[in-house]
Amino acid sequence: MINDIILLKLGEIVLKGLNRRSFEQKLIGNINRRLSNIGKFKVYCMQSTIYVEPVDETSDMDAAFEALGKVFGIATMSRAAGCEKDAAKIAELAISYLKDDMEAAKSFKVEGKRSDKSFPMTSIELSQYVGGELAEAYPECKVDVHEPELVVHVEIRDLAAYVHAAPTPGAGGMPVGSNGIGVTLLSGGIDSPVSTYMIAKRGVRLIPVHFFSFPYTSEQAKQKVIELAEILTAYCGKMTIEIVPFTHIQEEIRAKCPEDYFTLIMRRFMMRIASRIAEANGAKAIVTGENLGQVASQTMEAMASTQAVIDLPVLQPLIGMDKEEIVQIARKIGTFETSILPYEDCCTVFTPKHPKTKPKVHEVAEIESVLDIDALVDEAVAGIERVKVG
Ligand code: ATP
Ligand code: MG
Repeated sequence: MINDIILLKLGEIVLKGLNRRSFEQKLIGNINRRLSNIGKFKVYCMQSTIYVEPVDETSDMDAAFEALGKVFGIATMSRAAGCEKDAAKIAELAISYLKDDMEAAKSFKVEGKRSDKSFPMTSIELSQYVGGELAEAYPECKVDVHEPELVVHVEIRDLAAYVHAAPTPGAGGMPVGSNGIGVTLLSGGIDSPVSTYMIAKRGVRLIPVHFFSFPYTSEQAKQKVIELAEILTAYCGKMTIEIVPFTHIQEEIRAKCPEDYFTLIMRRFMMRIASRIAEANGAKAIVTGENLGQVASQTMEAMASTQAVIDLPVLQPLIGMDKEEIVQIARKIGTFETSILPYEDCCTVFTPKHPKTKPKVHEVAEIESVLDIDALVDEAVAGIERVKVG
């Protein structure tokens, strides 16, 4: 019986005190949720390996393999075939299952691993035996134990024996939800989908917040953000976007504050509102796509003034990256093409001609004090629209 199966090896477990079991449980929960859109699968963990088995004709193993490549907490992944723990059957399976790999490679070796110690051969004996059978079946492919092109893995585990070729790298990182909750500020630009991806990779479950300035920004601009969040769910899991009406705040700032402080004051409002959303959801950090020196509001002085209004840490995973590096990740995760669609962002609509780049925190505070800050924040929070994705 050839039994197509996916083997997943766990990634790093770095936090002291975060035990392996809860890490595994989180990961299995995330895997089950991600696979539920594809079909029925049986997912279980044994000896630090997660097994994904097909259940019926809905179990599309190719689609599952692709989806699992985006689940954080997985270090490596292999498509494998399983059979009874019998040396002759294992060799037969290796010959049929690895036909394409064996015909493509010039050299190979077998790496046997025996986690079930009751199996009668040692790992070395098993490797030699299966290697001999494969060499006989594919005489063009030479045995090379030092620098083989192809490594054939044979694993004797509790329930069955498995045969697979070299594993491919998984998404890495830690399971989403294993490291708390954060609020991520999601604009329609290139940067913030990447910062969202990077913090999700560290195991944080994220709540995207978008500031929406209708009619200065169009309905399409909002749809674009929803689409970006939808793409990100492949990595972040299901999310609920909080869409904050931001027009009244921007009009108030424009009417009552000097133009060169506009962006700074606006960003302080974003932080206050994000912090309120964090509090309501038990989130412990705010994530932004800021990048040192990229625009006037991303100088150290400007960031100090933005962050002065909240107590939560602001995580800025892109702070030291070059634009090209950010674009590369955006392409890899599939957000780039959507990010470059040409719709206005709320920040570009009101951008001052000469923004302050070296503001003093107390000056900004004094200038904005003409506004009824609490009432404006309350009004925006009361008007939040929530959109589920994933
Ligand atoms: P991005 O490419 O992510 O839009 P940016 O380079 O355009 O970033 P800014 O416009 O200064 O930079 O925004 C910095 C960060 O502030 C963004 O990365 C995002 O996290 C947040 N932000 C900006 N505009 C919005 C918005 N309309 N809604 C939610 N968050 C926003
Ligand atoms: Mg932007």
